[in-house]
Amino acid sequence: MSGTLRIHWAITPEIAPRPLINCNRCGGVKAYRCSGKFRVNANGKRIDVWLIYRCVDCDNSWNFGIFERCNRRDIEPVLLQALESNDAGLARRHAFDIVALRKLVGCVEEFPDVAVHKRLLGGASESAVALELQLGLEMPTSLRLDRLLASELGISRSRLQTLAERRLLVVDPDGAKALRKPARQGMTIRIDLAGEPDHEAIICAAGG
Ligand SMILES: [Zn+2]
Repeated sequence: MSGTLRIHWAITPEIAPRPLINCNRCGGVKAYRCSGKFRVNANGKRIDVWLIYRCVDCDNSWNFGIFERCNRRDIEPVLLQALESNDAGLARRHAFDIVALRKLVGCVEEFPDVAVHKRLLGGASESAVALELQLGLEMPTSLRLDRLLASELGISRSRLQTLAERRLLVVDPDGAKALRKPARQGMTIRIDLAGEPDHEAIICAAGG
């Protein structure tokens, strides 16, 4: 389609989920935040690895089991080295593993804050009257699609809803109902802004 600006949005969550744990030092349920540090305990052939969390109020620690009673031979030397050196990327991947956290702790606090890195894929912003936004998520987020679009495009959620009802905003896959659900990897959002008087500002905000 001519007049369409295609932009990729790389979305990265900013705050790791925080398990809510009954803190035995504070004497109540408290959020524990990831320290970014692993604890590796080698006992003969057996290795245990935990990611250390700390109570936000009293610094008490909680161990998130990554490997438990694992045979040393089953852990690649490169991986072991990354664990022992507190590799930031590896810690981040485990810290955002909400499924594994939920298995251990029933209640986990999630944060919708994200950073969005915008990269132009095609089209000329001067002549554009429509947007095609492609979402790339480093990992799942709890941020609703309409909140993401509203904050990044600088328009209200009710206006997004109206555009969707008029079929001027189309989400692939899942359609308009996707607006009220978390943004997902691989989603494409197409917005026809030809009838919007402020389309230049919206296209600029989108990354054009
Ligand atoms: Zn505490």
